[in-house]
Formats: sequence, C-alpha cells, structure tokens
Amino acid sequence: MSITLLKDASLLKTQAFIDGNWVAADSGAEHAVVNPATGAEIARVPDMGATETERAIAAADAALPAWRAKTAKERAALLRRWHDLILAHQDDLAVLMTLEQGKPLAEAKGEVAYGASFIEWFAEEGKRVYGETIPAPSGDKRLLVIKQPVGVTAAITPWNFPIAMITRKVGPALAAGCTSVVKPAEATPLSALALAELATRAGLPAGVLNVVTTARPAAVGDVLTGSPIVRKLSFTGSTPVGKRLMAACAGTVKRVSLELGGNAPFIVFDDADLDAAVRGALASKYRNAGQTCVCANRLLVQDGVYDAFAAKLAEAVAAMKVDDGLENGTQIGPLINEAAVKKVEGLVADAVAKGAKAVLGGTRHAKGGNFYAPTVLTGVTTDMAVAQEEIFGPVAPLFRFRTDDEAIRMANDTRSGLASYFYSRDIGRVWRVAEQLEYGMVGINEGIISNEVAPFGGVKESGVGREGSHYGIDEYLTIKYLCLGGM
Ligand code: NAD
Repeated sequence: MSITLLKDASLLKTQAFIDGNWVAADSGAEHAVVNPATGAEIARVPDMGATETERAIAAADAALPAWRAKTAKERAALLRRWHDLILAHQDDLAVLMTLEQGKPLAEAKGEVAYGASFIEWFAEEGKRVYGETIPAPSGDKRLLVIKQPVGVTAAITPWNFPIAMITRKVGPALAAGCTSVVKPAEATPLSALALAELATRAGLPAGVLNVVTTARPAAVGDVLTGSPIVRKLSFTGSTPVGKRLMAACAGTVKRVSLELGGNAPFIVFDDADLDAAVRGALASKYRNAGQTCVCANRLLVQDGVYDAFAAKLAEAVAAMKVDDGLENGTQIGPLINEAAVKKVEGLVADAVAKGAKAVLGGTRHAKGGNFYAPTVLTGVTTDMAVAQEEIFGPVAPLFRFRTDDEAIRMANDTRSGLASYFYSRDIGRVWRVAEQLEYGMVGINEGIISNEVAPFGGVKESGVGREGSHYGIDEYLTIKYLCLGGM
C-alpha cells in the first residue's frame, strides 16, 4: 500500500545496509514497522544483533583509511550530491516518514529539508577544519595543532525525527573523514534506509555509512558501545538510555555526544505580545504532536496575563486539525504508540487529580488508536508530575507566576537543560532572563529555534556536546599536538 504512494518505489528498503550491501539478519528474523495512525503494518525490516553489528563496524573500519585520505573537498562533493538527492526525493521521503512516524506530511517535508541542510552545511564546514600554530616557549621548537577524524563512529537515533537526527550526526562525521554505523529507532528504520539508498546513489563508497536495524536495541547497542574500534558514540534519545550508554562507553573511553530529554519552560511575561506568544506556543508545543525534545513542556505565565493567554491559547489549539498525517491540512497526528498515549493519560490524570483543569481536551481523541486530544491545562502547580516529566504529547500545562525571580526559579527547577523560551518586550528583562536560564538554548520571542548553523544541545542531564553549527564538527575531530624540535 505504501509503495503506491511513492513516486520512486525503490526508496522503500526492507533490508539493512552493511558494507554497501542490502542484507537480511543472519537468522532471517524481521520486525514489523507499523503506521501509528492506522496500526497497519507498512513493511518488515531485519532484526539484527551482535554479529551483524560487528560486521558493520568492521566494514566502517575497513572503509576508514580511504575515506579519511580523501580531501575535504572530495568528501564535500559526495555529500553535496547526497544532499541534492535527498531534496530531489523530498516528497517520497516525507511520505515514508509520515507513514512510519505519524507526523503531518507538511512537517515531514520540513524535516527532510532540515535534515538535508546538515549535510550541506557540514560538507562545507569540513573544508574549514583549520589547525593552529602556537608560539613556542623556547626558540628551538615550533608547536602546531592539527585536527584529525576520530575514526569509526556510531550513531543511535530516536523515532521522533527519523531523518534529521541521523543527518545531524552522519553529516559532520562523514565531512570530518569519519565512517559511521547507524542504529535507527526500531519504529522508524525506513527513513534511515531510504537515506542510505540515496547515499549509495550519490556515490558514497561501501562501508562509509552502515545502517543496522533491530528490534533489540541493547543487543546492537552493547556491541557499538563495547567495541574498541568505535571511537565515538553520538546518541539522541531519552535520558535514562543516554546514561546507560555513557556508562557503557566508559570501558573503552569512547568520546560521547548525548542529546537527551528536555523539560522546556515557555515563559510569558506580562509585557509580552500575547498573540505572538500564542503563535510561538502552538509551534513549540504542538509540532510533532508534542513529541520533540525541545517542546515547551511547562508554560509559565505571569499573573496579569494568565487568563487572557489561556483563553487565546485554548481557542487557537481548538482550531487545530487532528488526523492521519497524510490527510490534507492535518496539524496534529497520532502519538507514536499506545505506551506514549498511556503516559500522556497518566500525566493528565495526575494533574487533574491534584487540582488542574482541562480547559481543552484532557482525554484520548475521538479518532481512537494513538490519537490524543490537544489539551490545555490551567491551574497547574509544581507538585504535579508534569512539572518534572517530559510529556511528549499535545498537552500544554499552564503554571502561574508573579515575579521574574519566581519565573526563573521555576524554570530552572529541573534536572534538564535543553531548550527554553520566553516572551517579553523589555530589553533589560530579555538580557537578565536569557542569562539566568540554565539551558543550552534560549528562544526569545520565538518558538522554533533549531537550524543547521546554530549549536543545538543541552546542559545538566540534557546531554553533552553540540550538533549543527561550526561547533558540531569538533565532536568528530581529535586535536593532535605536533612539537617540532631541533630548530
Ligand atoms: P529512547 O532512548 O527509548 O530511544 C532512542 C534510541 O535509543 C532508539 O534508537 C532506541 O532503539 C535506542 N535504545 C534504547 N535502548 C537502548 C539500549 N539499551 N542500547 C542501545 N540503544 C538503545 O528514546 P525515544 O523514546 O526513541 O526518543 C524520545 C527521547 O529522545 C525523548 O526523551 C526526547 O527528548 C529525546 N530526544 C532528544 C533530542 C535532543 O536532541 N536532545 C532530540 C530528539 C529526541
């Protein structure tokens, strides 16, 4: 059924990609990829384990010397072709993504372009990996710094951005001269495999990029983290899994980049442009049905504008169209699976039991399945579970605050520190609040902040390292110090 929706049916790949070959699991085992909007099976992909992962690592290792030896310009030309092919197949990639992930087609198209932008950016950035000369403390020496690729890298990625979370890692890795083994999320392997197909069409040599699919992430993850050949792991996903992987990487002292969960505050001060704040909240909260790590998780609204903001937000959210992401005009699709719906239900029940009021939604959506009704909760307080847990659903909890200090205290009262947002037109307040928020990213009068040229990443338990921007390629480079003596 899905094939009929694709202009290029060969983008639907149902085998994993190792050493330039499309392969099944050694055991022949497969797992189903399911459309979260309908529950229908879209395809089956290999359920791989340790041996196939070892083979993928060996392939990446074998491909490394020749890939590393290419000039940055040569690598950039290949990456540029890959980028162009991704954009040329934007519609098909978007359909595949919506089918396996559920997000509205327009958002999926946006993610394809956003994902491709990392490949283009890093292809160019690879040409700017500059070294350094350092004035020596004695005249008989010359000191130099060169930067080199870290080697074989691994990427473990989540289902909520099935393309962009891969290109954000593989783009800089390949541009820097590293090779890569990717383990996509079990729910969304088809986007990853389609990317690999386009990479081969672009001429990427065998082994430079490998994609291992599995329904048993720990079986693959244990090999990726334990292997002495893999010199770096980049992970995007939940904080508990990230902590486990970080610990597992200690055995081989691997470099790690971790992009973990968030608990973003979205602060609306009383001098905010309320209509702009509502637009920002809609984009930040309800994009991808609330399943993004940078989603507004807690809306902190100042006393004087609380009721007006709540009314405007509820009115705007009520007008959003909830449906299968493939349907025209859909703004909110299904959640990824039943467990995700149950989690959201539990958080809303906890809040309501402790005194919050659902002024909109508060239940599963009438469409049933994995659909949850867009929800606005008022009267939310910090003793409720939504204050600390990532909701990952279309639920906006509105907390009330009185002073700037109280807002900052509430905003920072979390172990996460990824994205934060606030709306104010007072320039002094803008500076003070921006400086005091303990977050890796701050959106000021803006609800959507990610792009390829800016550093994405968190502080505290939201992770280590940065993706995108000129900082992003450093994650895939080692610094080598050369000391020339005998001058
Ligand atoms: P998850 O941690 O369950 O899964 C992420 C990836 O880790 C998947 O590929 C999964 O198969 C794999 N995985 C799970 N257990 C593993 C193990 N034991 N060993 C190796 N791999 C393992 O997270 P998820 O539910 O897929 O994604 C949602 C989470 O990701 C949210 O917490 C969200 O905030 C976070 N996220 C963060 C960012 C960011 O950049 N900070 C971006 C997107 C998503």
